[in-house]
Amino acid sequence: MRIVQKFGGTSVGSVERIQATAKIVKAEIDNGNEVAVVVSAMSGQTNYLLGLANDMNDCPPAREVDALVATGEQVTAALLAIALNKLGVSAYSMSGAQAGFKTAGKHAKARIKSVQGEHLIQRMQQGSVPVVTGFQGVDEQGNVTTLGRGGSDTSAVALAIAVKADSCDIYTDVDGIYTTDPRIEPKARKLDSISYEEMLEFASLGAKVLQTRSVELGMRYNMPIHLRSSFDLVQGTRVTREDKGMERAEISGVAYNRDEAKVTIKGIPDQPGIAAAVFGPVAEADINVDVIVQNISEDGLTDLTFTVPRNDYQATMDVLNALCIKMGAKKVKGDNQVAKVSIIGVGMRSHSGVAKKMFDVLAKESINIQMITTSEIKVTVVFEEKYVDVAVRALHEAFDLAQA
Ligand code: ADP
Ligand code: ASP
Ligand code: MG
Repeated sequence: MRIVQKFGGTSVGSVERIQATAKIVKAEIDNGNEVAVVVSAMSGQTNYLLGLANDMNDCPPAREVDALVATGEQVTAALLAIALNKLGVSAYSMSGAQAGFKTAGKHAKARIKSVQGEHLIQRMQQGSVPVVTGFQGVDEQGNVTTLGRGGSDTSAVALAIAVKADSCDIYTDVDGIYTTDPRIEPKARKLDSISYEEMLEFASLGAKVLQTRSVELGMRYNMPIHLRSSFDLVQGTRVTREDKGMERAEISGVAYNRDEAKVTIKGIPDQPGIAAAVFGPVAEADINVDVIVQNISEDGLTDLTFTVPRNDYQATMDVLNALCIKMGAKKVKGDNQVAKVSIIGVGMRSHSGVAKKMFDVLAKESINIQMITTSEIKVTVVFEEKYVDVAVRALHEAFDLAQA
């Protein structure tokens, strides 16, 4: 088998953890497999480096921030290669640029355009282990770029696709994907497998256990992802194609995201083109809009409410305040203490009343829902952030997720 193994921050968080990780890699080589490795920075290191940049300058140039944070992964790649060589395994570290990760798009949000796998395959066939820095690549101008927080997952899946691996094994500090974040609900149950589609919803709705883009890539190229623990080498959770034959529970899990803010532009003239007029400038400011609600118009005026990442709250308010004047709207309102909780599951396609049950559970906890959005396999609600823990636990219980 050819395997790409990815080790997250806690799996390379200390000298001891790097040594333990080297043993996990060696075991796969000893089993006769070809292995390439992708590493994250030591846990806490990316935040530490970002803090240094901000101490230096409130508004550090994005190119330099990328150059700085990319060093976190370079340290762990080299240390792991050193540890592997000590165990008698031929290994060599490579930066994203050396491994052939070409990117496009903005600094800190770059997208992988291509990865050159051939030279790595050759080395792997000779029994050598490339240890590649996750989270980074190089753009057309030769600048070092990074892929957004949690981006090493995406590096790993992209590398697995480029070297035509049989599996992408993502090692972390939990032994699988759970019905909800085990940090909030200790009764959460580990899933043996989950479909790409459900995992995509889980990840994009806030379960940061895998970066959303890694799941998108896995789904597009049908790359099996095995999420497992580097602390306890038990079977983890397999992310694969949906098994259509199986009976499904109403829902598979609960996700949450505290990183939300809500903005409203009130009293805008209700005419064709207003949504485009509002969301155009928001998109130009590189702000991702999520849940959108437009109210029924009264006296020819309407309100538009939508959510954005909390980090973009002020920038969104600035754009809307400028638009408010330009479009003759009445006012702009905002709230950056909201959160989003979602129930997810392909079982929703065949069970009715799932959304109503969710609303009943939240009503019983006296949680006032501010916005609702649904798709075929999820229901998302937005409410005050302080209720997240209560809501996650109550939903987990009501939908019997702790049961096997
Ligand atoms: P790494 O540094 O290895 O990439 P992350 O911190 O990014 O690890 O992701 C692992 C964490 O994801 C876990 O410690 C867990 O708290 C969190 N998490 C959130 N939702 C879930 C879930 N549904 N199942 C498992 N872990 C989850
Ligand atoms: N080190 C980066 C981060 O902390 C990338 C990663 O760990 O996936 O976001
Ligand atoms: Mg991660």
